[in-house]
Amino acid sequence: MKHSCILKDTVFKKINPGQKIALFLDFDGTLVPIQKDPSRCVLAEGMKEQLKSLADSGRIYIAILSGRSLPDIKRRIGIRNICYAGNHGLVISGSDMTYVHPKALSAKPSIDKAARMLSKEIAGIEGAWIERKKFTASLHYRSVRKEDIPSVKKAFYKVASEFSGDRMLAVIKGKKVLELAPDASWNKGSAALWILHNLKGKYLPVYIGDDWTDETAFRVLNKKGITIRVGKSAKTAANYYLKNQREVSEFLERVSETRLYEKELIV
Ligand SMILES: [Mg+2]
Repeated sequence: MKHSCILKDTVFKKINPGQKIALFLDFDGTLVPIQKDPSRCVLAEGMKEQLKSLADSGRIYIAILSGRSLPDIKRRIGIRNICYAGNHGLVISGSDMTYVHPKALSAKPSIDKAARMLSKEIAGIEGAWIERKKFTASLHYRSVRKEDIPSVKKAFYKVASEFSGDRMLAVIKGKKVLELAPDASWNKGSAALWILHNLKGKYLPVYIGDDWTDETAFRVLNKKGITIRVGKSAKTAANYYLKNQREVSEFLERVSETRLYEKELIV
């Protein structure tokens, strides 16, 4: 790897003039900085305007893929004519495509039960809390004291192991969060491919994300398009990196300018 998108022009040379782009974006840590309390993540007005104008160009199909629930991510972005995938892609809602993974529905009673058990287990641990997200449940421990983190993990895996027999639940590890999700062999990578296949016409996929859950998408899109990790890492499967949200914004600006090359050619 792993080249900086901003420093290397080669990435923009991969975008042919006038080419349609499927722009896949993670939310937390990609479009907004990660916060201790995820309910405080707000999309900056400037970034929102950029996304709107890219979507309005008609050339760029935007899909937001998040571990958040679908209503949560929709509310936080607040743009109408784009596609949203919640719960790591288990539910997808775009202007002309919708999807709910069947396992998301069948595993829901197990998720509910596990979440109830988990809240009892972590009741005495300060800073640990559970977020219910309809089809998944997240145990957040960003605010937990360092010495208590092993107890948080122990409680989580104790509950998870009680469901390992029926193959209903899977564990997803994120940044300071452990999540129980349907055991669906479905991830952000599967969701991104599903969206790409359901688009009419040929789109170049561009995927930007920052977390381990985004690696599934980097792996399946690497050869098809452009994969970018926010934050440099030696371990990532992504081909490029951007340092932070400011650089993400700078990158999006340059993507919007690739349409100008088209105009120049026409002249
Ligand atoms: Mg993220």
